[in-house]
Amino acid sequence: MSKEVKIVMTGDRPTGRLHLGHFVGSIQNRIKLQDESDKSYYMVADIQALTDNASNPDKVRDNVLEVALDNLACGLDPKKTTMFIQSEIPEIAELTILFLNLVTLARLKRNPTVKDEMKQKGFGENVPAGFLAYPVSQAADILFCRSNLIPVGEDQLPVIEQVNEIVDDFNRIYGETFDRVKHIVGNTPRLIGTDGGIKMGKSLNNGIYLSDSLEEITKKVMSMYTDPKHIHVEDPGEVEGNVVFSYLDIFDTNRVEIAELKKHYKKGGLGDVVIKKRLINILEDIINPIRTRREELAKNPENVMKILKDGTNNARIIAIETMAEVREALKINYF
Ligand code: ATP
Ligand code: MG
Repeated sequence: MSKEVKIVMTGDRPTGRLHLGHFVGSIQNRIKLQDESDKSYYMVADIQALTDNASNPDKVRDNVLEVALDNLACGLDPKKTTMFIQSEIPEIAELTILFLNLVTLARLKRNPTVKDEMKQKGFGENVPAGFLAYPVSQAADILFCRSNLIPVGEDQLPVIEQVNEIVDDFNRIYGETFDRVKHIVGNTPRLIGTDGGIKMGKSLNNGIYLSDSLEEITKKVMSMYTDPKHIHVEDPGEVEGNVVFSYLDIFDTNRVEIAELKKHYKKGGLGDVVIKKRLINILEDIINPIRTRREELAKNPENVMKILKDGTNNARIIAIETMAEVREALKINYF
């Protein structure tokens, strides 16, 4: 396949509604790339979500619709992007099994993203094998549809590196079959949590959601950490490590005013409530149109499921083609 062809693949784990971290880390790029690429795919990664939610199938099932709604509300267009459900493409599971032979246990355990997430989830040695191997299944997600351009947040970069190792090994052993893949990170590769934690995450309870009401946004911003030493309005305040200013840096486009506000805050005389109110207004301007579209789309969940069904049928065609080629390369094409 020519390297010039841009085939984009992205997805979300249906483990909860999507938040501002997804928006700036990945969704904005998805929306842009559906116009700038030759083909684009969006996957609801339900099989991947089950790797650390095996005992909670209801949660995964319920959130399939939620993540699809979030993406549609942000402007993902099913006419431009093939939207599908991972578990409905059995060829992804077949490819995963074959790729697993190219990856060692030591390499899986070394992946920094997986290591971090294992720590965060408290798995220790009792990590489910499927979870440890999710980067391999992610290689199958990316390669079954021949995609080569992956918009992701910073947390996913080690996974992309592992995908390319699989591509290299596969091509070396079985003959040139897959393209190496490139990642694209958004302007904000990692949005911190409302608690100041290193990453806003669905499973971390530190997010502002694309479906949050103005009341919820207000509550979350008002409880954000600023500078603990900034007790009285006239006290000089810290801007570094101040969650409200970190968010203003990302979401407020008026750079000049932000620079002035920072100066004022450092000098003293600027209250937390002023900067928090400013942030609430800016976030409401971003989220309000998404929330409104989402509410509209949510009235007809069957339409959303139809989009996913049509997209799945479409993706299945290329999945079957790729699998035939892979079977031939591995000499497991008997009949
Ligand atoms: P979970 O906690 O269940 O893993 P998550 O919030 O990490 O959920 P994912 O569905 O794993 O969300 O991630 C979907 C995409 O969004 C990935 O490309 C990921 O890199 C990106 N992303 C998630 N959180 C952030 C964030 N805080 N900043 C930037 N990008 C993010
Ligand atoms: Mg994640």
